[in-house]
Amino acid sequence: MQLAHRLDAIAESITLAVTARANALKKQGIDVVSFGAGEPDFDTPLPIKEAAIKALLAGKTKYEPTTGTPEARKAICDKLARFNKLDYKPEEIIVSVGGKHSLYVSFMAVLNPGDEVIIPAPYWVSYPEMVKLAGGVPVIVRGDPAKDFKITPQQLSAAITAKTKMVIINSPSNPGGHTYHPAELAALADVIAPHANIWVCSDEIYERLLYAGQQSCSWAALNFGLWKDRTITCNCLSKTYAMTGWRIGYTAGPKMLIDAMNKLQGQMTSNITSFCMPAIVEALTNPAMETEIQTMRDAFEKRGQRMWQLLNSIPGMSCARPTGAFLHVPQHCQVARQAAVKNRRNRQRCH
Ligand code: PLP
Repeated sequence: MQLAHRLDAIAESITLAVTARANALKKQGIDVVSFGAGEPDFDTPLPIKEAAIKALLAGKTKYEPTTGTPEARKAICDKLARFNKLDYKPEEIIVSVGGKHSLYVSFMAVLNPGDEVIIPAPYWVSYPEMVKLAGGVPVIVRGDPAKDFKITPQQLSAAITAKTKMVIINSPSNPGGHTYHPAELAALADVIAPHANIWVCSDEIYERLLYAGQQSCSWAALNFGLWKDRTITCNCLSKTYAMTGWRIGYTAGPKMLIDAMNKLQGQMTSNITSFCMPAIVEALTNPAMETEIQTMRDAFEKRGQRMWQLLNSIPGMSCARPTGAFLHVPQHCQVARQAAVKNRRNRQRCH
């Protein structure tokens, strides 16, 4: 028996594999600090849970529209208007099974075989694999550690070819921990603007985890909303509301894209779990959730600062102060480099 060739091109999800391994070790009673999946250790705020429980008990257990209930899509539009200064209508929104699914379905809707997708590095490990699954070719552009790992307009310009179909922007970034300033995003946008066939997929899932005075900026809002027609805005409730296990993501984009995603998703998963729809409304409309978000953000900032200080106190290691998300990448690590060299030597000795 044989499996599909498409599996040969992709790697398994490293973060999920590391997390599974760490959990298995913990079950054996071993004290493990897992650097696998980025997951808030807070529980989902109670009102969100209650909204889902209430819906479940009220019998919200049947199929719903693939794109999401009208109430959930409206709550997302209202949030995009309020927080991101974006003007979307409910028919320009689709709810999917987590941010990962939102990204994957949008790649499937846009990419043809051989289309190139520019991914700034360091990147979230699933981007290249999802691009490949959708038939695309990942083109990695390395951010300079001395510039907080952010790519420059010159680097972006040099990476664009006639085959470029999409650029992925993830700010605040996993795993870079950096955030592009609105002016930096605008400079990148100026490079892409003349290439009318290039989409920008803006992964904004860490938009509420900002530190050191950073401000949030949605790509679609650049140039007074002129980018809206070419932007795929992906987001989810996973990180902001400590809802990683709920699997709720959403995409905002031009209606033709959302219709295409609806067509694809209708043959894949249909709607997300029906009784989770009211939880979306609760999370995005209950003003009390702002306090919950703030509490979690403050805790992440405090821990991030501590981690940053501790990493920098290791001889040979340097790490920039994180400005977003809850991840750190050392810019310079003499210790890791020495260990890698030693490992390589040992391996060479073995062979
Ligand atoms: N995008 C980035 C940058 C991420 O770090 C993650 C998860 O860690 C996702 C998307 C996927 O989010 P979700 O858990 O909602 O699928």
